[in-house]
Amino acid sequence: MGSFPFIDGFPIVTSLTLVVGLVIIYLLLDGRRNQSSNRNQLGASPDSSHCECYKDNNDVSSSLELRKSSVDSQDASSKSSHNISDESEAVLRTSDDSSSLRPLPECLKIYKSSRDGCLALSDDEIISLVDANHIQARNLEKELKNFERGVVVRRKLIQRHTHVSEELSYKSYDYSKVFGACCENVIGFVGVPIGVAGPLLMDGQEYQVPMATTEGCLVASTNRGCRATYLGGGIRTRVVFDAMTRGPVVRFPSAIRATEALKWLENSMNFMKLKREFDASSRFARLLSVQSRVAGRFLFIRFSAKTGDAMGMNMVSKGTELALKILHADFQDMEILSLSGNYCTDKKPAALNWLDGRGKSVISESIIPSSVVQKVLKTSVTAIVELNIAKNLVGSAMAGSIGGFNAHASNVVSAIFIATGQDPAQNVCSSNCITLMEPWGDNGQDLYISCTMPSVEVGTVGGGTILSSQAACLKMLGLSGPNLSQPGHNARTLASVVCATVLAGELSLMAALAGGHLVTSHLKYNRSDSNIAASVASHQQRSSLQTSLPNLCVPSKVQHKHVDDEQKITMNVIDLPTECKQS
Ligand code: ADP
Repeated sequence: MGSFPFIDGFPIVTSLTLVVGLVIIYLLLDGRRNQSSNRNQLGASPDSSHCECYKDNNDVSSSLELRKSSVDSQDASSKSSHNISDESEAVLRTSDDSSSLRPLPECLKIYKSSRDGCLALSDDEIISLVDANHIQARNLEKELKNFERGVVVRRKLIQRHTHVSEELSYKSYDYSKVFGACCENVIGFVGVPIGVAGPLLMDGQEYQVPMATTEGCLVASTNRGCRATYLGGGIRTRVVFDAMTRGPVVRFPSAIRATEALKWLENSMNFMKLKREFDASSRFARLLSVQSRVAGRFLFIRFSAKTGDAMGMNMVSKGTELALKILHADFQDMEILSLSGNYCTDKKPAALNWLDGRGKSVISESIIPSSVVQKVLKTSVTAIVELNIAKNLVGSAMAGSIGGFNAHASNVVSAIFIATGQDPAQNVCSSNCITLMEPWGDNGQDLYISCTMPSVEVGTVGGGTILSSQAACLKMLGLSGPNLSQPGHNARTLASVVCATVLAGELSLMAALAGGHLVTSHLKYNRSDSNIAASVASHQQRSSLQTSLPNLCVPSKVQHKHVDDEQKITMNVIDLPTECKQS
């Protein structure tokens, strides 16, 4: 006891009472201190740049604490502690507790009078203001000054009409890059697996190509194509044309007047007038040509321009709008019906893009030695070349295809587009491709393959390229953002990567088809385990029946080799993820 001088001279009971009392007071003070430090931490969270950090919907206590914190800091100087706790209590209500919902007029008053507007209201109170048209649902992020909370409240709004599962992800996403740029009415985001194919040896450089897909086998197959071309010395590419297009439709009182405008546009002095105006609209837009067609009173004008590293639709639209004003000055009876008259042509199949190109026109080529054709691709040059003619040329011609003279270019195009933040809808024309194959070398023992893609619409700035994951995929390729020293170089290289990877994909799938491995491999990779055994067995049964049918593409010697190999290939396919892809 001597070591506790403050109790000297007190009876022991009094001393104990004093100690217990002091401990209680200490604990109470400590509790208050923790509370206030929690508030400070939340206020200083990394999200505070957007506004107050709002945790997630399930973490009611955190959100309540935040709203209390907001009120605290707002009124700390002017209110007594009693007032603060009163107001906090009024604000602190769970959003699920509808009985504590304040009446609409009171919510409206708080929303209009409070400096923080919505922040002093619960989610359900905000929803009541949305229902009463005082707040627009599309503006929730702006009103709440918090992207994630905006998303949470919108999900609650939608929840009343349909089930929005927690499995639809929405937490911890950088919505600041989405809002006002990439998507509206946001309720979350969908994760797509990213696989990597590579190394892709292209123009002397190695690339690891990110591919976003849910189709099993696609990445494995493309990877095999990368390996085969790597062993053959790589793929060479060239971008032969680079211009984004916009094709407005205008109307005149007569076909004669439309024709006069057409003639006006063909005059080189007039073209320069348009170009001056067009080029002034951006540091990167450079008008290259104007191509027009008349249909009755309608005139379609296709403006083609370089757009640097941007895919360029916005840029060309802006320039086109200004150029049309110049035309209008000389043709005041011209009506501009639409800035896009489908003569662009964007996101729709069109022979025009196939013939004249749109975006980047790219060619890739490679020579695959016979040993690689046999060992890696597990087919023969004769078989794959004959199949290419039968399927990709004759078959597509018989189907009346425009730009579809390939096995599955769109598979690779879409996967790279999604991974790197391109507009997936532009897969339509970007997948235009003709795949050509020839026997190569003195005795035709090697394989020459090329892919010609006239309309690859890509960019490394703007659109979805700004989103974190997509930008990360572009970084993997060393192609993120603008190329400062050579504007346009990054976008053109990305187009080359697309075309070279398409070549790898074409090679692998065509080999799988020529070798007859497609279905077995596909079943292995693209189905759940429980389905595989039965499906493979039934396919093998069917395959053995097919051996008795004549095969017009594959010489019988080659065909029998593949049939003999099929069991082995089926067994190997999991260890060697190389065969197949569904076309
Ligand atoms: P798009 O025309 O593909 O829809 P945006 O016009 O939305 O793309 O985005 C392009 C923006 O990026 C423009 O504001 C442009 O000035 C800017 N920018 C910066 N550097 C470059 C570059 N190297 N190439 C093209 N645009 C660039």
